Amino acid sequence: MIDEATLDEQLPQLQCRQCGYAGCAPYARAIARREAPIHLCKPGGRDTLAALAKITGLDPGAHAEPRPDPPQLAWIDPASCIGCTRCLRACPVDAILGARNYLHAILPNECTGCGLCIDPCPTDCIRLVPLTVAAQAGIPPSGFFPHGRLAEEAIRKRLRRRYERHVARFEPDGSTPPHRPTDAERLREIESIVESRPRRPGIHQPGRTPPTSG
Ligand code: SF4
Ligand code: SF4
Ligand code: SF4
Repeated sequence: MIDEATLDEQLPQLQCRQCGYAGCAPYARAIARREAPIHLCKPGGRDTLAALAKITGLDPGAHAEPRPDPPQLAWIDPASCIGCTRCLRACPVDAILGARNYLHAILPNECTGCGLCIDPCPTDCIRLVPLTVAAQAGIPPSGFFPHGRLAEEAIRKRLRRRYERHVARFEPDGSTPPHRPTDAERLREIESIVESRPRRPGIHQPGRTPPTSG
């Protein structure tokens, strides 16, 4: 059997799940066991496909050619973030900074634009913006992209380490990341955040009993 670590080394380490597996390592394992074809990593593009073909001896020409999307970066609308932390648990490379009840922010140097934080957000306040637009808005380029500050192999190692730390922190028992909430779950999440906020005398907070006079 082909060594799965060797295959994993050739994968981009975005941990974006576009291949249908829970991350790069599980996909590498499936290829090594001959349970998955080698053309499923769309973000890896032609280079990844060629590298996997070389290791496995499979013909890349027999598969559809993957086409990477243009690089994007996540952005959180500060007006709508309620500080629920769901996106923290969803980001496979820990590129989001925040704590419960506080505004969260994307770390532009760590975000790979995988988009996995978007669906779990109960207020739909995360968007992907093209890197070019982000650059125009003064956001520095991500460390992931080739024109960033790290060489490609170093980037992959770094992302793999961040992913392993994330899994150890949020999914140690194999639990799955947060899903897209239903309307009822959104409401519950928002209510629980409002309820957990400290009361400020004299200020009416939505969902709270208005302050009484006298
Ligand atoms: S980068 Fe490629 S192999 Fe890794 S999770 Fe994404 S699609 Fe799968
Ligand atoms: S912040 Fe969102 S888009 Fe960026 S790496 Fe994390 S999950 Fe992916
Ligand atoms: S999931 Fe959305 S609302 Fe919750 S902390 Fe993240 S950005 Fe804020």
